[in-house]
Amino acid sequence: MPARSTPSPAELARAAKLLAELLAAYPDAHCELNYSSPHELLVATILSAQTTDVNVNKATPSLFARFPTPADYARSSPEEIEPYVRSLGFFRNKARAVFESMREVHHRFNDQVPRTMDELLTLRGVARKTANVVLGNAFNINVGVVVDTHVERLSKRLALAPKKANVAQIERRLMVLFPQDHWCMLSHLLIWHGRRACKARGSSCDAHPICQTFGDHCDRRTTERRAAKAALTISAKPAPLRKSGKKTTTRRAKNAGGS
Ligand code: SF4
Repeated sequence: MPARSTPSPAELARAAKLLAELLAAYPDAHCELNYSSPHELLVATILSAQTTDVNVNKATPSLFARFPTPADYARSSPEEIEPYVRSLGFFRNKARAVFESMREVHHRFNDQVPRTMDELLTLRGVARKTANVVLGNAFNINVGVVVDTHVERLSKRLALAPKKANVAQIERRLMVLFPQDHWCMLSHLLIWHGRRACKARGSSCDAHPICQTFGDHCDRRTTERRAAKAALTISAKPAPLRKSGKKTTTRRAKNAGGS
């Protein structure tokens, strides 16, 4: 990951204000994947790639019932897992990732999901985002910030990260702007705001309480306001006289005078 750049006091104050407002707006924010153990959360997070938590939550009850422990997955095969995850897209890859990661958890980690980023990253289907989800939610360990599509979009709209920043750069920026013990919650808060108000299309900018105040700092809202103001200014200007109209009037006046 790129080196951390130190934020200014003003940037830190702004981030603290945003965090307080998000906490007030979404006091119940939490991971919306259903799970009852660390290995179930790991499986659900692997399955959540390129689909919604709602879809994953529809598929996992029967999957978790059929494979209650990492050992049960390890004794099966990707082909046996596939029917349970077929509805989620990329199901062959996902079934294989679930099978291989659970087999590793069973054989190498004694049925316990590892609690370090480095160990988690050795499992198939586990990248930094998935590892952050598991560490933060299953073990309350904050070593990074989950940057999914909502966190990426909101970080840019709220000018927490540069418009052209990639996922790794956004994560690094959020890590220097927000206190470490809030990193897991921060991602929940941004995801909740992204799902409920600040959507990819059709954001309800004027409807949501948090945007009544923090919206003033929102890059997208500021741009929209500037455009609206410019449109008003243009429509308020008097229309210029048309040259042809001027000539017609003059000719008419001359004719009127001559008769
Ligand atoms: S003002 Fe609109 S674009 Fe900005 S954070 Fe709120 S919902 Fe998102």
